[in-house]
Amino acid sequence: MAHECFADEIAIDFPSVGRVVERMRDRFLGERAEPDVLCADVCVSAFEAWKGLVVALDVPMRTTCSHCGGRGETWTEPCHQCCGTGDSLTHHALRVSVPPGVEDGARLRFRVSTPDAASVRVEVRVAVRPAAV
Ligand SMILES: [Zn+2]
Repeated sequence: MAHECFADEIAIDFPSVGRVVERMRDRFLGERAEPDVLCADVCVSAFEAWKGLVVALDVPMRTTCSHCGGRGETWTEPCHQCCGTGDSLTHHALRVSVPPGVEDGARLRFRVSTPDAASVRVEVRVAVRPAAV
């Protein structure tokens, strides 16, 4: 499986640490969450969180328009395929492993890169549903 290698790049920030870092950032730098990070929310049951699971994610990635080769135009005409941007959007199917024992509010951060697309930073926020008692 080509996507298995991404598993090594996943780092978990536990919620307590994450919140402190965010607050420090806001106070000292006035910086919000980075705009180039793609955020996804994943909701899992308490059992899945305990056991760990693999979630499927569809990551939009920007690639070079195959019609105009990234120039945004063909001869003197703007490229109709990409509306002159030279970019084309594709979706990259990804399987993200959520490690066993993941906590509510944990974030998985990693970078997705393919040979023909600009790399995308992804942050997956995990929400754990309380167990039904
Ligand atoms: Zn084009």
